[in-house]
Amino acid sequence: MSSTSPTPDHGAQPAVTVSEVIKSYGGRRAVDEVSLEVRRGEFFGLLGPNGAGKSTLVEIMEGLRKADSGSVTVFGESPWPRNTALLPRMGVQTQSSAFFVRQTVHEHLRTVAALFGADPGAVDATLDAVGLGGRHGIRVDSLSGGQRQRLAIASALVHGPELIFLDEPTAALDPEGRRDLWEVLRGLKAQGRTIVYTTHHLDEAEALCDRVGILVAGRLVVTDAPQNLIGTFGATSRLLVPLGRIDEQKAASLPGVDGVTVQGGHLVLETRATGRVLAALDPLTGLDGVQTRTPSLEDVYLDITARQSQAPTPLTTDNTNNQEQQA
Ligand code: ADP
Repeated sequence: MSSTSPTPDHGAQPAVTVSEVIKSYGGRRAVDEVSLEVRRGEFFGLLGPNGAGKSTLVEIMEGLRKADSGSVTVFGESPWPRNTALLPRMGVQTQSSAFFVRQTVHEHLRTVAALFGADPGAVDATLDAVGLGGRHGIRVDSLSGGQRQRLAIASALVHGPELIFLDEPTAALDPEGRRDLWEVLRGLKAQGRTIVYTTHHLDEAEALCDRVGILVAGRLVVTDAPQNLIGTFGATSRLLVPLGRIDEQKAASLPGVDGVTVQGGHLVLETRATGRVLAALDPLTGLDGVQTRTPSLEDVYLDITARQSQAPTPLTTDNTNNQEQQA
């Protein structure tokens, strides 16, 4: 990766602005009037079920697809038609990233670096960063799926872009590979780079993203920081009590319990008042072996996408955006 880092300037013009973008395929809207901003230095996650329009939207931001209507700017400029001035500033990994398959890993990345006029010295460092340091001499067509994915990510990073688009970068990675890539992405963010990425891993989005946007059937239904979404749409917490300690009816009658189910070897108590329920449980069952599960981004996501697929309606706007606009 290039050693030059962008200076984070959070008050500056956004890295990406999407305004009322529509894209249809054969009369069916894949992206349906989406507007959003990605700030400089931000780690922005696009979430949504398969077919929600994430890749289409990201490809429109990258200048790889043309919107039917609406506008997109990247660093204040339109990425479409292909804007060569923007290319050195953007790194793109798509789900169908192209490879020079007959080359070795090192040759491939050297070729990509040369295409961007990047420092050849960045090749080794980038391969090390994505965990391909020991794979320099292997031909690209002999790589495993996960290794190809790492190489695609390396190809998006080698020229040190300010804005990085990654489409499901951790999809083919094993758990260790995923965690290693998290560290790479955190490092890029720490350097002030802007990252826009899609993922189906909600734990990952919660751990990495400053803000996420949830797309359902082409519509951006909510955009906010993961913690704000959990606070606003906060699913209930769950207390897992080993079976046999308390009967279901008694548990359901405890103050603060919203619902009770049996799952596996546990009675699961849904609550928005964890402290109250724990205090009520303690004298009845003791708290040994009682587990508390706080709501996660995954709970909120599943709740929002289920409700939205039945009756799509815009949810509240971005809290952080509003605060900044009011300030
Ligand atoms: P996601 O990335 O969220 O899975 P996509 O953007 O890939 O969603 O797809 C959104 C919708 O657009 C889907 O219904 C998909 O079948 C359709 N679609 C995507 N690309 C094309 C294409 N090139 N031609 C026709 N339909 C497409």
